[in-house]
Amino acid sequence: MSFDKIPKPDQLIQIQYAPPKTGWMETPVEFRPGTWSYSGTAKSLTALDLPNPRSWQPSDDDWKLPENWQTIILSGMKERLGKYRSFRLFMDVCVRCGACADKCHFYIGSGDPKNMPVLRAELLRSVYRRYFTKSGKLFGRLAGARDLTMDVLKEWFYYFYQCTECRRCSAFCPFGIDQAEITMMGRELLNLVGCNINWVTEPAANCFRTGNHLGIQPGGIKDILDFFADDIEERTGVRVDVPLNKKGADILFVTPSGDYFADPGTYTCMGYMMLFHEIGLNYTFSTYASEGGNFGLFTSHEMVKRLNAKIYAEAKRLGVKWILGGECGHMWRVIHQYMDTMNGPADFLEAPVSPITGTRFENARSTKMVHIVEFTADLIRNGKLKLDPKRNDHLKLTFHDSCNPARAMGLFEEPRYIIQNACNHFYEMAEDTIREKTLCCGAGAGLGNDENMEMRMRGGMPRAMAVKKVVEKHGVNRLACICAIDRATLSSLMDYWVPGVTVMGVHELLANALVMTGEKERKTDLRGEPLAGY
Ligand code: SF4
Ligand code: SF4
Repeated sequence: MSFDKIPKPDQLIQIQYAPPKTGWMETPVEFRPGTWSYSGTAKSLTALDLPNPRSWQPSDDDWKLPENWQTIILSGMKERLGKYRSFRLFMDVCVRCGACADKCHFYIGSGDPKNMPVLRAELLRSVYRRYFTKSGKLFGRLAGARDLTMDVLKEWFYYFYQCTECRRCSAFCPFGIDQAEITMMGRELLNLVGCNINWVTEPAANCFRTGNHLGIQPGGIKDILDFFADDIEERTGVRVDVPLNKKGADILFVTPSGDYFADPGTYTCMGYMMLFHEIGLNYTFSTYASEGGNFGLFTSHEMVKRLNAKIYAEAKRLGVKWILGGECGHMWRVIHQYMDTMNGPADFLEAPVSPITGTRFENARSTKMVHIVEFTADLIRNGKLKLDPKRNDHLKLTFHDSCNPARAMGLFEEPRYIIQNACNHFYEMAEDTIREKTLCCGAGAGLGNDENMEMRMRGGMPRAMAVKKVVEKHGVNRLACICAIDRATLSSLMDYWVPGVTVMGVHELLANALVMTGEKERKTDLRGEPLAGY
């Protein structure tokens, strides 16, 4: 990952919070290199059946839109205002109290007022007022309304692709206005005229082709899992199984493809395999449902539904009892908040019960899908795992609450419970930067691409500064999280702002500490780094 084209950290941190001299409606957007993402390619849009596939870039003067693009967007807006009550509510109820204004990491890191959640939403609200409210139609600007022009559309593109849909601002809004839902609507409307980003459309297109974002073919998945089994054997002396597409397994295990192919997620995947082997779980990976993540969430509700359908379809085909899901972020937002309604009911599955402890996961009764940290925390609580936390004594660890498992699911205690049982040196970051108030990595929702690097480092800066504090106070050298995108993006963020801090999944930490039946004396962790005191 190269930072050559962006300012150095000491320059980037000089943030100008003074607003521009012109009013927000009069300040046009500037597509500055490093702060926006490349457009979706015609190939990906065609594969996804999305409108207006063509060659263009957001920095072009001519976006090659259909002649009637305003009509398309306004009728799309009308349709959605009728269909989603939350959308109409979020357009109407904001009282501009400003409680959310300084809560967005992109505003904190850029000083750009249009990155204040209240103003980001206003980009859409102003158009809503102009065409769908009496006051806006009669009084125009006086009522905060404005025409849908090309400049407005460019502004939508720039700022709705500078929101990671993390929902931190929503946690502070007295009315619970969900900015992520507003951004999703903004992106849906942009999609109607073919304005999307490639970091979203290409992974989504890959998913339809091969089942996963990275476009890995079934043979590739088998090879990499076999390779992990070899590595595990080398480190522990234990040969683990690689069950793949196994009909009649009790449990289908679905995880983001980043865990198969992107370091440091690969070590997390090895951790799952070691855990499942040790407890004798009758499970299977799948080459068809080989992606838990769902970049449809960053495109449209329809795309979420289409992409997610493969998980239940594969569970049915394999005849499993229920589904276990790996460490991922937005995958869990989809599962927890949408899957049951969109793709369910999954009546052909059983309400999940741990075959090891007998615990019934009541919270997953409708989705039939259990989060791996709930499953593992339950194993520990019931004394089913032998853990030696001293093996992680070479690590001084802090934990980043990934936005979706934290704010969308309330998974605060389970990862901490695993961490506290698997290592001796755990230090929390400041209270206002963790749990429900956690700060985003700055690169989720499709923004984790190289061309957007400056904005990623700006958006991730508040999280990085919170890590820096525990580095200075406690000598922290490792940042744990339970999200595949975080594992990739936080690694770059740490390299830029807090060099020396590396990133890991919680199940990598667990696997270091896991005492396996028949293992040889362990001298290194999963990365081959020497274990302290061994
Ligand atoms: S990035 Fe997060 S905090 Fe900022 S506006 Fe979007 S949802 Fe709110
Ligand atoms: S906190 Fe809620 S009501 Fe207040 S300005 Fe922000 S979105 Fe509007």
